[in-house]
Amino acid sequence: MHKDAVMLTFDVDWAPDWMVAEVANLLTNRGVAATWFITHESPVLEDLKSEKLFELGWHPNFFPGSSHGENVEDVLEFCRNLVPEGRSVRAHSLFQSERHLQTLVTNFDIRNDCSVYLPTREVLGPHQVRYEEEGRPLRRLPHFFQDNMNILGDRRWDAEDAWFHRKGAKTFCLHPIHICLNTNRMEQYEKLKALGPLPSITRTALSDIDRDGTGTRSLFLGLLETYDHRLFSQVDAYCEAVFGGHP
Ligand SMILES: [Zn+2]
Repeated sequence: MHKDAVMLTFDVDWAPDWMVAEVANLLTNRGVAATWFITHESPVLEDLKSEKLFELGWHPNFFPGSSHGENVEDVLEFCRNLVPEGRSVRAHSLFQSERHLQTLVTNFDIRNDCSVYLPTREVLGPHQVRYEEEGRPLRRLPHFFQDNMNILGDRRWDAEDAWFHRKGAKTFCLHPIHICLNTNRMEQYEKLKALGPLPSITRTALSDIDRDGTGTRSLFLGLLETYDHRLFSQVDAYCEAVFGGHP
């Protein structure tokens, strides 16, 4: 595994199927490996599952009122039913705790967690954390870029920016919704949410939302063009390579 590996990860976040399919096609057309964190049952899920370029993981919503369940175990059981083979997780809104992480690794056999956002100057690689004596450690892979946080902070939309070409393994947290909106300000997402339940929003409904200029989509397409395609990896494959199989 290359020391400068690139992990593109996507939080589905209840996006309509056509948005997921659009991003998936951009990846498969270029032979780019990626990891998807799944939130809900839908027809496109079967398409993602059948694509060898893709690893599928869980995107549990631990917030009160979650459609995934009322407690940690129920939420994770819901996610396991969606993707029984899942080995990687990112908590929705990065909501986590030691208890969540311990339950993931001890009761649900999850190997990798991607719920840490670290936009640090140096890229920080994966690390292992043990949540139970004698238990198997959880491998944690921080991401240095997150599209919705970039809107609030650095607003880097140029794939040629040196920020994206530092040494070390680089993990991105992206959302199909923000790629399809070409989001560069929160107002676009607020307008989208006002259109109704996210999974049922149609492509034509987006026509009233300004998606011009540089934003999440133009950056995503730029990254696909800029990086050497041999560097793209799935989260689990990368962590397996770094830590050498089951500890
Ligand atoms: Zn989310």
